[in-house]
Amino acid sequence: MPDKKSLLEIYETLLKTYGPRNWWPAKTPYEMMVGAILTQNTSWRNVEKAINNLKGCLTPEFVSSVPNEELALLIRSSGYHNQKAIKLKSLTEWFGKYAYCAASAKKVDGEILREELLAIKGVGRETADSILTYALDKPFFVVDAYTKRILYRLGCDLSGSYDDIRTKIEQGIPNDLYIYNEFHALIVEHAKRYCMKTPSCEGCPLEEKCQKRIIDT
Ligand code: SF4
Repeated sequence: MPDKKSLLEIYETLLKTYGPRNWWPAKTPYEMMVGAILTQNTSWRNVEKAINNLKGCLTPEFVSSVPNEELALLIRSSGYHNQKAIKLKSLTEWFGKYAYCAASAKKVDGEILREELLAIKGVGRETADSILTYALDKPFFVVDAYTKRILYRLGCDLSGSYDDIRTKIEQGIPNDLYIYNEFHALIVEHAKRYCMKTPSCEGCPLEEKCQKRIIDT
C-alpha cells in the first residue's frame, strides 16, 4: 500500500478532476440504506427504477408492514428481488431497534453498529461499510471491486481479506468522514470514466502515478 502522501495524492487528483460527488444519492438515511441493499449485483440505473417504484412509500413503516411478495414486485428491476425483499425486511427490523431514527443510531459506537449490521442476513462488509459511512456518519472505508482494481493497477499491495485491505487504506488517509465519503465515490467515478475492465489510460489523471498492472485485474 502506498504511504499516506500517495493515497492522499490519488484522492486529491481525483477530487480535482471530477469535483465533489456529494454521495450518497438519497433523500434520507433510510433511503440510502435501501439503496445499499438494492445495488448489490446490479447497476445503479436498475436501483433507480426500483426506488422510483417505491416513491411515496420508501419508509421503514411501509417496508416492515408490506407483504414480502408485494415488496419484491416493487423492487423487481433491481434483480434478485425476492432475496432483496427479505434483506430489506431484515435491515428494517434492525433499524427498528433505533425507532427508525438515524440520529439515535448515530449515538452508538461505529464498531458496535458494524457488528450489528454484519449480523443481518444479506448484509456483507461492503454493504455495512456503505451504510455506516453514508447513512450513519461512521467512517469505514468502502472497499469494492473498483477500489481493488484501481489501487492494484496503481501499484498498491492489496493482499489479505476485505478488512485487511480496508484497514490498510484507512491507515493511509486521515480519519475524516468527508474524505471517506468522497474518496470512495471518486473511485467509482474514475472506474467508469477511465479505469474500466479494459482501461482507457490516455488522458487518465492518474497515469503518471500508475504502474498499469492491468493483467489479472
Ligand atoms: S493509467 Fe490506466 S490503469 Fe492506471 S488508473 Fe489510469 S486508466 Fe487505470
